[in-house]
Amino acid sequence: MENTLKKLAILAEDAQYDLACACGNGKQFDSSRKRGADGRWLYPVTVAGGGRGLLLKTLQSNCCASDCKYCPLRNNANARRCSLSPAETARVFMDYHRRRPEIFGLFLSSGVVRDPDFTMQRLLDSAAILRRQYRFKGYIHLKIIPGASDAAVEEALSLATAVSLNIEAPGEKYFRTLSANKQFERDIVHPLKLISNLTMRGARYAKIKASTQFIVGAAGERDNEIINYMDAIYNRLRFERVYFSAYQPGLGDTSIPGERNFALTPEARFTREHRLYQCDFLLRTYGFQKDELVFEPDGSLSLSADPKEMWARNHPNFFPVNINKADKLELMRIPAIGAETAAKIIRLRAIHRLYSLTDAGVKGKQLEKARSFATA
Ligand code: SF4
Repeated sequence: MENTLKKLAILAEDAQYDLACACGNGKQFDSSRKRGADGRWLYPVTVAGGGRGLLLKTLQSNCCASDCKYCPLRNNANARRCSLSPAETARVFMDYHRRRPEIFGLFLSSGVVRDPDFTMQRLLDSAAILRRQYRFKGYIHLKIIPGASDAAVEEALSLATAVSLNIEAPGEKYFRTLSANKQFERDIVHPLKLISNLTMRGARYAKIKASTQFIVGAAGERDNEIINYMDAIYNRLRFERVYFSAYQPGLGDTSIPGERNFALTPEARFTREHRLYQCDFLLRTYGFQKDELVFEPDGSLSLSADPKEMWARNHPNFFPVNINKADKLELMRIPAIGAETAAKIIRLRAIHRLYSLTDAGVKGKQLEKARSFATA
């Protein structure tokens, strides 16, 4: 067990390079990026139905035959290599889970050991041991290894609660700059479509959540190109979530654009990632269409103002919004007014007329931002 824990320490540390955080505030050290204080492999996350839980997140192996140029584990990189067997992976997770029930699930990924199907089989074996031998009924997230066979993808869906396959870049052109081994259509687009078909409403694995992730800034791609792909992933593939991970230079191959872009500070790279999450939110929950988003002439999102404020500044005719008459989605177009505040406004105005946003408890920076876009 001691040896297993030593390997887990290395593998969980390396799993940080695949950190899909569901939200962010543009700060490098926001809570969604932090691992638990009590273990480098435990991540605090919000669980379904609210509340917080801990997810054990690790690679099963950091050996890798692939050449992703943004990844510090790529085949020609100098890294401490080790692997957990499927039995070790299942045992170490169950040991944690039994001792601390708040560790509710496992997020399991891997470098490519030998070839995609061999690797996928090891991930599947771990999940199968958990499900069949330990009778674990909780959360298992399995990464789909690009290039894995259709049969392996389907088996992953039969064992997991959620699966993900990282798209990495918006299209073939950018993807090619990041890897010579992997092919965008064959290894990424085909399995994404397969996952979509198998998990869509009415399909056999409709209950399994599917997600993907972009690595932002590694390939020199533009925000509007990422947004176009994100929109297709939600509307055509019907994936549950799209995640973004800001590329930070230093560990990748010096040939990729992300290593040569000195225009953005580390902080600005995280702000860019945060802006993409804000757009994702506008499209998924605020009723925005992708064509409404405002980009700079070069296709990037503003780093100085959030996407909703940019839209508001570009649509003066829409404002001011009358807070006593507007419907919920109209209220949510006001900068700094979210779904919760909009619902509160509607609740309160049913009782009495509102004379300003302060009547609905809006104050401080939120009021400062919203005030000029609202009227009573
Ligand atoms: S497949 Fe690519 S991203 Fe994954 S570990 Fe290997 S080099 Fe890194």
